[in-house]
Amino acid sequence: MYTLVRMKDKLSRKRTFWLSFTVFIFLLSFALGVVTTWSYKYGLAELEARSKTRLELYINYLQGVLEKYQSLPELLAIDNTLVHALLNPHEKTRIETLNKYLETINKVSDTLDTYLMNKDGLTIAASNWQERRPFIGRNFSYRPYFKQAMKGDLGRYFALGVTSSKRGYYFAYPVRRADEILGAVAIKISIDTVEQKWAQEEENFLVSDPDGVIFITTYPGWRYKTLEPLDEKVLQRIIESKRYPDEPLVTLSESSKTISDSVQILDIQVDNGNEMQRIVKQSQYMPQAGWNVHILTDTKALKRYVLSLNIIVGAALTVVYFLAVLLYQRQHRLAELRRIEQETKKALHEANEQLESRVNDRTQELTQTNTLLKKEILDRKKTEIKLKRTRKELIHAAKLAVLGQMSAGINHELNQPLAAIRSYADNGKQFLQKGRLDNARWNLEQIAELTERMAQIGVQLKLFSKKSSGQIVTIALHGVIDGAMEILNPTLKKSGVDMKISVTPKDVEVRGNHVLLQQVLVNLISNAIQALELQDHKEIYLQCVPVDGKISISVQDNGPGIPDKLVQEIFEPFFTTKKSGQGLGLGLTISDRIVRELGGIIRYVEFDQGARFEFALERVG
Ligand code: ADP
Repeated sequence: MYTLVRMKDKLSRKRTFWLSFTVFIFLLSFALGVVTTWSYKYGLAELEARSKTRLELYINYLQGVLEKYQSLPELLAIDNTLVHALLNPHEKTRIETLNKYLETINKVSDTLDTYLMNKDGLTIAASNWQERRPFIGRNFSYRPYFKQAMKGDLGRYFALGVTSSKRGYYFAYPVRRADEILGAVAIKISIDTVEQKWAQEEENFLVSDPDGVIFITTYPGWRYKTLEPLDEKVLQRIIESKRYPDEPLVTLSESSKTISDSVQILDIQVDNGNEMQRIVKQSQYMPQAGWNVHILTDTKALKRYVLSLNIIVGAALTVVYFLAVLLYQRQHRLAELRRIEQETKKALHEANEQLESRVNDRTQELTQTNTLLKKEILDRKKTEIKLKRTRKELIHAAKLAVLGQMSAGINHELNQPLAAIRSYADNGKQFLQKGRLDNARWNLEQIAELTERMAQIGVQLKLFSKKSSGQIVTIALHGVIDGAMEILNPTLKKSGVDMKISVTPKDVEVRGNHVLLQQVLVNLISNAIQALELQDHKEIYLQCVPVDGKISISVQDNGPGIPDKLVQEIFEPFFTTKKSGQGLGLGLTISDRIVRELGGIIRYVEFDQGARFEFALERVG
C-alpha cells in the first residue's frame, strides 16, 4: 500500500517536474527573445551613436583635407603669368617658364598635378611638362570641373586621371582678364592618405559620389562599386564623363533594410564575395564636396554582445530555475519526511494503545486465570486430602485383603502339614502299638520334616514383616557368596545343577548387609534351581563385575524364563506360579525390598535362554 502511494507520488513529482520544465523553457525562450530584441536595439543605438561620432570626425578630416587645397587654384588664377600665357599661348619661353612655375607650385603644395587650360579646355602648361605623357596639348573640356570653372565657379570633381589612371580630386578655377574668362587653372590632389589612415577592423569609411559610386573606401575591395544598382542612363552618363574608365561599377549590396534616414542595415560581400557580412551603414552628406560619406560598422560585435547577454541571462535563469527546483524538491522531501514522521508517530501511538489494551486484556485474563488457579489449587488440596483419605482407606482395605490372603495362604500351607502330621502321628502310634518300630520312626521322621517346613514358612513371614534387618556396612562379596553357597549346596547337589561363580575382582567389597544380601542371593538361586526342575542340563551362573563404578551382581539360569505377560507381576507379593507348598510368592518381593534398602534396584532381564536377575551395589575401594 505504502509502495503504491510512493509510486504515485513519484509519478506526480515527475509530471510536475516536466510541466515546470516546459513552462521554464517557454519562459526562457520568451525572456531570451525579449533580451535579444532589447539588447539588439540598445546595441544598435549605441553603435549608431558611436558611428555617428566617428563619421563626423571623418567628415571633418575630409573637409580639412579639401579646404587645404581648394583655395590654391583661386590664388594661382590671379597670377598674371597665367593670364599672359593664355593670351600668348605660342610664346615658347613664356610657356616654358610657366611650366617650371607650375612644377614648383605642384611640388611645394604637394599636389599631384597643376595645369592651365585655355577656354577650349586645351592644356597649355602643366607641372608634369617633363614627364613621359604630359598634359600639355590634351583637352579636358569634357571634365565637369572645367565646365564649372568656365561658368565662373570653383570647379571640383573626383575622377581617375585619363592619362595617369591615378585617382584624384580636382579643383579648377577660372583665369580672368577683367570680366573675361580666358581659361582655367586646375590642380589634382591625391586622396590615398584619406583611406589608409582610417582603415580599422570593425568599421570602414566610404565616400560615394552623387550617383552612389564609391570612390574613397578604407576597404579596397569596395572601390568603384555602387551602393545601389544604377540606372542604365546614369551608367551611360558616367561612361561618357570618363570618370571611372574601365570599371564595371557593380552593386555592393543587393538587400538593405532602412532603419532611419541616415541608417541602413546591409548584407555586403567581403573577401572577394566569398563571405557575406551584415553591416550597419550610417551616411551623411558633405555639401561642400557634394559627397555622401558613409561609415560601415560590422555587426559582429553587436551579435557577440547580444549572444553574450543571452548566455548570461539564459545561464542565470537556468541556475535560478534549477535552484528553485532543488529548493522545491527539498521542501517536498522535508514535507514527506514530516509526513512519514507523523505517520510513524501515529502508528506507534496506535500500536502502543493496542499493546496497552492487549496488556490490559491479558492482565485481566491472567487475573482470571490466577483466580481460577487459586480455586483449582484449593480444589486440588481438597482432592489431595480426599485422596489421602481414600488411599489410607484403600491401604487399610488392601492390608485387610492381604491379611485375608495371607491367612488363607498360611492356613493352607499350615493345614496340609498339620493334617499330615496328625495322620503321621496316628500311624506312628499304631506302628508303636504293633511294635513296628521302623515304620514308627519313618512316620516320626516325616513329622519332623513337616515341622521343619512349617518353621520355614514362619521364617519367611518373619523376614517379610521385618522393616529393616540390619545396618549398611562394607562387606566382602566373596564372604556373602560363600555363606549363600553353604545354605544352598545340599539343594544344588540334589537337583544336579552346574553352579558357576565369577567374581571380578576377587576381593571386591561393596556397601551392604551380609545377612540381607545373602538372603537375596539364596532367593534368586533357589528360584533358578526350581525353574530348572524339568531341564536336562541345569546351569546357574552367578556373576559379579564392575560396571560404571559399581558392582553388578547377576544370577542367570538356562531354564524356561518368564513369559512376557507375567514379567510385570513377579515382584508383586504373593505372586507365584508354583504348586502349593513350593512357594509363597514372597521371594522376589523380599529381595526387591532388600536391594532397594541397599541402594539398588533389582531387574529382570530378557534372555534368549532362561532368566536373568541383576542389581548393582556401591563399590568400595
Ligand atoms: P515363589 O518362588 O515362592 O513362587 P517368588 O517371588 O520367588 O515366589 O517368585 C515368583 C514367581 O516368579 C515364581 O512363582 C516363578 O513363576 C517366577 N520365577 C522366579 N524366578 C524364576 C526363574 N529363575 N525362572 C523362572 N521363573 C521364575
